[in-house]
Amino acid sequence: MPIRRTKRGAERSPLGGDYDVVVCGASFAGLAVARELAGAGRVLLLDRYEIGERQTSACAAPTEWLTALGLEPSIRQTFGKLVVHTPHSTARFPLPWTFSTFDYPELCALLDDQNDADFETAKVERRGRAGDAVEVHTDRGAVAAPLVVDALGWRRVLSRAGYQPPDAPLSRGLEVHPPGASGELEIWIDRSLVPAGYGWSFPARDEVRVGVGSFDPHYHVKDPTVDLAARLRREAVRYQGNWIPHKLRRAVDDEMFFAGDSAGHCLPLTAEGIRTALYFGIALGRELREVLEGRATRAEALRRYGAFSDDHERKFRWMLRAQRAVPRMPPRLLALATRGMASRAFTHWAFGHYLRIAPPEFARAARLPAAPVEEPLAA
Ligand SMILES: Cc1cc2nc3c(=O)[nH]c(=O)nc-3n(C[C@H](O)[C@H](O)[C@H](O)COP(=O)(O)OP(=O)(O)OC[C@H]3O[C@@H](n4cnc5c(N)ncnc54)[C@H](O)[C@@H]3O)c2cc1C
Repeated sequence: MPIRRTKRGAERSPLGGDYDVVVCGASFAGLAVARELAGAGRVLLLDRYEIGERQTSACAAPTEWLTALGLEPSIRQTFGKLVVHTPHSTARFPLPWTFSTFDYPELCALLDDQNDADFETAKVERRGRAGDAVEVHTDRGAVAAPLVVDALGWRRVLSRAGYQPPDAPLSRGLEVHPPGASGELEIWIDRSLVPAGYGWSFPARDEVRVGVGSFDPHYHVKDPTVDLAARLRREAVRYQGNWIPHKLRRAVDDEMFFAGDSAGHCLPLTAEGIRTALYFGIALGRELREVLEGRATRAEALRRYGAFSDDHERKFRWMLRAQRAVPRMPPRLLALATRGMASRAFTHWAFGHYLRIAPPEFARAARLPAAPVEEPLAA
């Protein structure tokens, strides 16, 4: 069991006060928002755990994203190929860019160094109103700010309409972290493991993150995870898992902002949600900075950031279609398809487009690209 360093007993003094921005959730999305607000105002970051204390992912992301944010020291291993196994084939996809696995506590510490927000451990429970400001009620009291961000993950605690698994558009993910080493980033698309989903083995220098994700939230992944670990002769130790959203949700309501898993910003099919949490978190942080520096109102920030997120809806919808189609392919056709797609030309084309859904240059750009306003998504 991981050791919790969350404040206990007398350390849990009451929380209160007014801030310019309250960012709830201090993982990828929340830390990205806070980074963009450095020096711009009084910002409070809240999380139920200490920063970096609780990892919930295999922690693999495009290397360029990690370097763009100065997070290279957290990188554990880098891969230029993705190995895809099906029951009838093994294909090696030569990637046009690399993926890296990283150390979660170290990455969070590096990202946290880039903000000047106050940080408190508190469990966020619900929201209220204090005049024009939004009140965030926690187990240590309430704080208020005109600008409040929910970066709390799939549960979207501060939303008026919550998600209830297993009857929500969520996938299940579970993995183990045995010690060991390997040179290959591997995935398995195999119905004997999981009817709709995939298994993975992501090495990170001295440990291997082996897990299974099911797109069907009703399908339990504990046994498949143990099964995959056994197939790979790895120990099933150090479990961690979570629900993974696979549908975009509205990233704003009438007064609040949502980023990362809380806005369904995790990509369907691949369940890649770190890059997108950073991307949308940065976009949101830039909008909030405009407000703090007097160049925009909250209403304008709500409209612009909401439109920016909505503008990605078509790409997310396509990824969701692919997520539904792949498990329906007959295994022999799937084998043929993966072998055919492993050509350099196809891989470069497909993975190039995939990276551009949330491109690493964005981390370096100074301002949001103009976003056309589309039909708003249902909250
Ligand atoms: C098993 C598994 C493996 C995965 N592997 C990968 C991968 O390799 N690469 C990838 O890109 N994506 C991966 N994902 C998806 C990825 O983990 C998420 O998309 C990503 O973590 C989203 O970031 P976030 O900041 O939005 O939310 P989270 O990382 O979930 O952070 C939410 C934060 O809010 C805090 N919090 C939650 N509720 C409360 C509360 N009530 N009060 C206070 N604080 C609270 C949490 O402690 C946490 O710090 C994986 C997911 C799973 C489940």
